Amino acid sequence: MTSQEIRSKFLNFFEGKKHLIVPSAPLVLKNDPTLMFVNSGMAPFKEFFLGNSEPKSNRIADTQKCLRVSGKHNDLEEVGYDTYHHTLFEMLGNWSFGDYFKKEAIAWAWELLTEVYGIDKDILYVTIFEGSDDDNLKIDQEAYDIWKQYISEDRILMGNKKDNFWEMGDQGPCGPCSEIHVDIRSAEEKAKVDGKSLVNMDHPQVVEIWNLVFMQYNRKANGSLEALPNKHIDTGMGFERLCMVLQSVQSNYDTDVFTPIIREIETITNKDYGKNEKVDVAIRVISDHVRAVAFSIADGQLPSNTGAGYVIRRILRRAVRYGFTFLNQKEPFIYKLTDTLSKQMGTAFPELKSQKRLIENVIKEEEHSFLRTLDQGLLLLETVITNAKSKTIAGSKAFELYDTYGFPLDLTQLIAKEKGYEVDEAGFNAEMKKQKDRSRAASASEMSDWVVLKEDDEEEFIGYDTLTANVKLTRYRKVTSKKEGEQYQLVFNMTPFYPESGGQVGDKGTIKASNGEVIYILDTKKENNVIMHIAKNLPEYLNDTFKAQVNEEYRRLSASNHTATHLLHQALRTILGTHVEQKGSLVRPKSLRFDFSHYSKVEPDQLQQIEDFVNARIKENLPLEEQRNIPMQKALDEGALALFGEKYGDSVRAIRFGQSMELCGGTHVQNTGDIWYFKIKSESAIAAGIRRIEAITNMAVGDYFETIDKEYHTLKEVLKNPNEPVKAVENLQAENAELKKQVEQLLKDKAKNIKGELKSELVEINDVLFLAKKLDLDAGAIKDVCFELGSEFNNLFLLFGAEANGKAILSCYISKELVSEKDLNAGQIVRELGKHIQGGGGGQPFFATAGGKNPAGIEEALKAAKDYL
Ligand code: ATP
Ligand code: MG
Repeated sequence: MTSQEIRSKFLNFFEGKKHLIVPSAPLVLKNDPTLMFVNSGMAPFKEFFLGNSEPKSNRIADTQKCLRVSGKHNDLEEVGYDTYHHTLFEMLGNWSFGDYFKKEAIAWAWELLTEVYGIDKDILYVTIFEGSDDDNLKIDQEAYDIWKQYISEDRILMGNKKDNFWEMGDQGPCGPCSEIHVDIRSAEEKAKVDGKSLVNMDHPQVVEIWNLVFMQYNRKANGSLEALPNKHIDTGMGFERLCMVLQSVQSNYDTDVFTPIIREIETITNKDYGKNEKVDVAIRVISDHVRAVAFSIADGQLPSNTGAGYVIRRILRRAVRYGFTFLNQKEPFIYKLTDTLSKQMGTAFPELKSQKRLIENVIKEEEHSFLRTLDQGLLLLETVITNAKSKTIAGSKAFELYDTYGFPLDLTQLIAKEKGYEVDEAGFNAEMKKQKDRSRAASASEMSDWVVLKEDDEEEFIGYDTLTANVKLTRYRKVTSKKEGEQYQLVFNMTPFYPESGGQVGDKGTIKASNGEVIYILDTKKENNVIMHIAKNLPEYLNDTFKAQVNEEYRRLSASNHTATHLLHQALRTILGTHVEQKGSLVRPKSLRFDFSHYSKVEPDQLQQIEDFVNARIKENLPLEEQRNIPMQKALDEGALALFGEKYGDSVRAIRFGQSMELCGGTHVQNTGDIWYFKIKSESAIAAGIRRIEAITNMAVGDYFETIDKEYHTLKEVLKNPNEPVKAVENLQAENAELKKQVEQLLKDKAKNIKGELKSELVEINDVLFLAKKLDLDAGAIKDVCFELGSEFNNLFLLFGAEANGKAILSCYISKELVSEKDLNAGQIVRELGKHIQGGGGGQPFFATAGGKNPAGIEEALKAAKDYL
């Protein structure tokens, strides 16, 4: 069975059981600040488990892209070394939201595995939750009793809280789970060791493939459990592991999910997979990591220096480093795998096809720059090794390499070992811990439980139609963080406040109690589909009716920039081409920022055309045409632009202004005329193949022109109000250049005159022509004078002092003949005389200079010069 077939069989099976099949959500969820990446199939459905919104169907099945490289689930260090953990993998899942529970979940899992896929029952084991004293929970007897109808009881194993009790986070829905494990060892090995003893023991051929989670509790902030009103099913099966079982191979990497990429790596690097363990690890790492990086980029998460972007950068660097060290790849090559990957996965995940060029460009550029730092880091390591006083490299040095050059400890160890050195690992770990503690302390925040005042099914957003409303507080909680101190998150029964999303910032405003008390709403955010209003304090009477008022000016300007963003998007696709895709957007009251894919600089005349295009749409006074609830497919058929990496529901909101139509949840002006004017302020590159335009609209343009106008008038005044100011500045520049030339000539003439004068002042002492004098020339001119005099006499000893910008300079010239005959040395002389001017210097025996901060000492130094004769 091919992996494609395995995937479809899963989805078809659950479709047959009345499940709605949905596409994978993007890897980065915009509305869940607690997760950097989706790390399990349930993450995109959290809002349903929390009861914040209603799913379209209470039975859903899908395959979800998951990334386990940070936070609670981090498998990165295993990847490549074992054969069944990946960074990015697909999790097949079926879901019941308050519908079926353990009985069906277990029966269907069994039916699918043993009947549809035909897996031999004798290689399966299941685990159930044994209970836990901490939580006062008993064994999951219900699950046990269901399982024993399908599988012999000696194959039902007990699991502890760590393995068999699943929690979403420190708080929230949780419950016991049942895992299904496979034993794919050979018959001989099975005869030697009982499979039962290997379950959950990290054996590469006795692995967990499916986890059935029975969500029936809610974990509160104080750690206690309460029963959930609705029980849910959440299951997750590792797709690549399932393929390993069904394709009768011993490693995920030997399935057709990975073999095409591995063959490609073999071809590019001229190495064979399966001959040498180190090479094999490297090949597995690269074939795994390229998937993680490519999927992330396709979903809009580019490598960068912070947050999720940094995680992606590190994964790619890890791959580069394995290629560099074990496959001898000194030039970028990972980007070349994109083609194979998109051919192979592009049907199930079309974003890999449509974004192929971007993925290639970004990976290539990243590889390039990391290979450069790798070189620098290697140099640094060389120096560290050369300067090491013992055979141990300090932990702090290894950490510096890690922190600044992205050198993982094992790379440093490897290189050190080749030269017979060791790394102080404990020291490295100590530094690492210090850094982690620092960042944890900076970001730590504490959340109290929600205090529920009124039960409410869904908080309605009414802010498209009104900016004021009478609202009731339904729940709130306190959040304490280092950065913001104590804040409250308020939830109302309905709200006119727009929560930050789709690049547009959240609304600000006030809520007013009936006794006149005013609470300021500092920001509005959305988490798991709940709109949270951030305030510094709570209202005195919580059950009051409040008058909510959105700050109108703030909202109006945000709307202006949001509509302008759509017009800009349209302009870019019209003028630069339809390869332009939105890669990021920030809409604030004072400005807008738009990131998009495009492969070269946008030229000034193109920028002008883009600006003109947008302003023409503004002039046309195009009215807002909003369709608030139309089927996604209909909107797409009408030509609406949808963004990659965005999670859309079945019915969507479509925003049209003339020919511009986008799926969008943001707020907009009623008419493009309300934007007034659009002005681009900058265009730049932010990554390989990604450009950024920053622009302003509305009053900001007025302010901008006013500032420029003021500056212009001041400039004109300074120039004495010429008729043609540009010409006046050009004239000034020309005049200035001419004057500079004249000054240079004058200085040269002056030096010539001085030379004549100085000649007449030379005195002969013991066959030496001597002069010590303060001159009014700069250091360069003094040097010239010295050498010119030097070309006429061969027995000179000159010491000149000069003063410039409050500093003193001494210059000493001694004819070469004297240097050897009389054992005089200009370098040594200026060093000694430099004391008088509180400075130092040096140079050659025949010419040297010293600088110092005490011009008053010049005379002393000049007097002392004679003593050398
Ligand atoms: P393991 O103990 O093997 O790490 P887990 O307990 O972390 O698994 P779950 O969180 O229950 O796994 O995830 C559900 C399923 O997803 C697992 O049964 C497994 O098949 C698969 N899975 C989990 N982590 C990975 C991974 N890093 N790579 C590939 N598949 C995975
Ligand atoms: Mg795990």
